[in-house]
Amino acid sequence: MSGSLSSVDPQIADLIKAEERRQTDTVKLIASENYVSKAVLEATGTVLTNKYSEGYPGKRYYEGQQVIDQIETLAIERAKSLFGVNHANVQPYSGSPANLAIYMAFLQPGDTVMGMGLPFGGHLTHGWSVSATGKWFNPVRYGVRKDTGRVDLDEVREIALRERPKLIFCGGTAIPRTIDFPAFAEIAREVGAVLAADIAHIAGLVAGGAHPSPVGHADVISTTTHKTLRGPRGAMLMATSDEHAAALNKAVFPGLQGGPHNHTTAAIAVALGEAATEEFKAYAHQVVANARALAEELNSRGFDLVSGGTDNHLILMDLTPKGVGGKPAAQALDRAGLETNYNSVPFDTRKPFDPSGIRLGTAGVTSRGMGTDEMRQIGVWIDQVVTALAKGEDEAEHVVARVQGEVRELTSRFPAPGL
Ligand SMILES: *Cc1c(COP(=O)(O)O)cnc(C)c1O
Repeated sequence: MSGSLSSVDPQIADLIKAEERRQTDTVKLIASENYVSKAVLEATGTVLTNKYSEGYPGKRYYEGQQVIDQIETLAIERAKSLFGVNHANVQPYSGSPANLAIYMAFLQPGDTVMGMGLPFGGHLTHGWSVSATGKWFNPVRYGVRKDTGRVDLDEVREIALRERPKLIFCGGTAIPRTIDFPAFAEIAREVGAVLAADIAHIAGLVAGGAHPSPVGHADVISTTTHKTLRGPRGAMLMATSDEHAAALNKAVFPGLQGGPHNHTTAAIAVALGEAATEEFKAYAHQVVANARALAEELNSRGFDLVSGGTDNHLILMDLTPKGVGGKPAAQALDRAGLETNYNSVPFDTRKPFDPSGIRLGTAGVTSRGMGTDEMRQIGVWIDQVVTALAKGEDEAEHVVARVQGEVRELTSRFPAPGL
């Protein structure tokens, strides 16, 4: 009971070390990931994991909450002050259960929910068919225009007027452009729907002032805490009206969850404290500047970027003109030390498990202190690997080996936080 991890379970300890090595040596371009600080990591690995605290601060079902109540209250207060909301719930286990809590709070099974379709950049939990939210509710979907790659708000309004959803989601997982919260709010008001802004991807940009805030427009705000916000795996639900606040709290507990993960709550509080600093503001703006630089480099090299570029941390590109599928490209890039994910693009003619695109994000590389020069270099490497791959696997392996060496040199100059 008192031995360290490496003596108690060397197998797991070695695997964790190996993952740490891998994260150190690769350039993380996965748009949903980041590197948390040492302080956030430290908070997650604490004795707080031992404590049960069903309920909310001051209203618990177990004794011994003297300390936990203070921790959760701090997390809540920091969330309220950072995002400028009256209410925050920091207990959802992750983004998907947080979104389910929104359904639980405002809908009955079979009610209509409107969200962006998954292939257009929406999330599974916005009513996609394989998700519980698409099976137990009646989903209707909007997408993006083929010519612009952007959401057409006239189309969103038409669908909303026709289908009368009770709940509308805006936001998603592969949206490279600014979300027009006021326009969505107007549509939601017109049809009497609850508007949920899912800012899982962009929460750090919103907190840092690098993306407009949904506060004052959306009825409910849902976010993960581990993407651009750079906290532990977790989620939050926020609202400005007390009425919605009560419904959300009841939906999270006892509606969907039991005890909150207190070690995570503490780490969320730490991350929110970090996100309130001037340093984080500069970080958020650098994330966007980096994405723009990477997009420009890729554009100039003939890559087909969905919507032509980016306003945030994320780039989605269609590799069809390069003559390569998204999956083989992502795999070759990973061998070169450039970690991305293959992704469907709007109107994709290929299957989701073998789609046409890849998705890139700059939250992680910016946390390592990389700037626009490094982004241009990364753009060059991506082009070299993809272009070589189009000529065949053998050709690609030479290029991959060379790029991998160069990537290793870059990552050694930019140590990752927390590692
Ligand atoms: C990541 C994400 C989620 C889900 O978060 P998990 O923590 O993976 O469950 C929900 N909505 C959006 C828009 C996301 O990007």
